[in-house]
Amino acid sequence: MLSVLASLAIAAAAPSQASPPCPPPPAGYDAAQWAKAWALHHDALVVDTHVDTTTRILDRGFDVGPRANDGHFDLVRGREGGLDAVFHSIYVDARFAGDESALFAKAPVDINADWPRPADAGAANGSARRALMMIDGIVQQARRHPTRMTMCATADELVAAVQAGRHAALMGIEGGHAIEGDLGMLRLFHQLGVRYMTLTHTNHNEYADSCAPAEPRWGGLNRLGVKVVAEMNRLGMVVDVSHVSDATFFDALAATKAPVICSHSSLRALCPHPRNVTDDMLRAIAKNGGAVMINFNCGFLDADYAKNRSARQATRRIQEKAARDKFADGSAELRDALAALDARFPLVEPPPLATLVAHVLRALEIAGPDHVGIGSDFDGVPCVPRGMDDAAHLPRLTYELLAAGQSETTVRKLLGGNLLRVLRAVEAHAASRRGEEPQRNGADDGDRLPR
Ligand SMILES: [Zn+2]
Repeated sequence: MLSVLASLAIAAAAPSQASPPCPPPPAGYDAAQWAKAWALHHDALVVDTHVDTTTRILDRGFDVGPRANDGHFDLVRGREGGLDAVFHSIYVDARFAGDESALFAKAPVDINADWPRPADAGAANGSARRALMMIDGIVQQARRHPTRMTMCATADELVAAVQAGRHAALMGIEGGHAIEGDLGMLRLFHQLGVRYMTLTHTNHNEYADSCAPAEPRWGGLNRLGVKVVAEMNRLGMVVDVSHVSDATFFDALAATKAPVICSHSSLRALCPHPRNVTDDMLRAIAKNGGAVMINFNCGFLDADYAKNRSARQATRRIQEKAARDKFADGSAELRDALAALDARFPLVEPPPLATLVAHVLRALEIAGPDHVGIGSDFDGVPCVPRGMDDAAHLPRLTYELLAAGQSETTVRKLLGGNLLRVLRAVEAHAASRRGEEPQRNGADDGDRLPR
């Protein structure tokens, strides 16, 4: 909820939408402090900038309406956790990327005049189509639950939906290959309501390098990448620099005229994963006026967890392959061998909530209270810390931050205030450029930037 007054007004108009009653404190929590944290959390605007439930919706027919007994998010657990607004990920896996040769053909310059047709050899780029299906998936959920969930495309719409007691659903593209290198496609996604785009996923794309492959492709952004950032600024779409290479990160920061976000990234100082941001990156985002939203994935929070898990998995894979080579599919021997492996290689225990809290506290210390938020990656990661099992557990983060001495003001900014400020700043920047000509694809798209 946004304010005491607003929640009182809502309570009077629709008592069923009131905040859920405070449950008993979790083990080890002080009862009075828990009640205070619960009240603050449910009064504050809470925004999560990265939730991957869309993949379950699209691929498994998941319905966000009822409480599910697996995964991390549905409307019931979102409400229990005081989660008011979510950027649902329009996630396009790297495997949907296809042939992009036409984009970089030097002539004709207009890529749309020479775009591969479905029948052309090697032309199967399914990225934009996948993104469109993702959008349809979340929009159909909002249609199915009109009294509980509203699609939003602006900060004002987000606030209005929350004040009406509804889940505010926004969309962010994850994987910049979704636009297939076409600035017109970027504009169309904006038209459909997409309000941020992660410049890359785990793959280098037509205009930007990812942090995942060992070898760079462009060395950061190329010419087209600079145009993509400029067009996102002009349109009012937030540039998201999670997943990108360090060079892409700093190229994007140099190119943007509006605040950027990391929609779901943790800290490299505490867990040396290339997906995480360095202290220099935190400072650069603070200078830019943007925000880093902390990712809840165990593997990005705890280096020991990541190492332990991958070492066990590697050994397990080797022994499993040996068993499968030795025993026939479906045989009792294979079943027994796999059961024995399950017993010998149990799941690695997730780190405690304190590990996540340490990332948040350090981010607040380095970037300052105006530049940190939450981007859980719920339903997109295999493991979240103990005590942060799903969206219903979010009030525990507020408790832990208050217990660590953070002020109510800082907690409110972190929970959603900072995201709202960034969104409004990006909207204001776009409004100031109304009437400006759009960016165009051209023969220089594949050119590297001078270094
Ligand atoms: Zn991601």
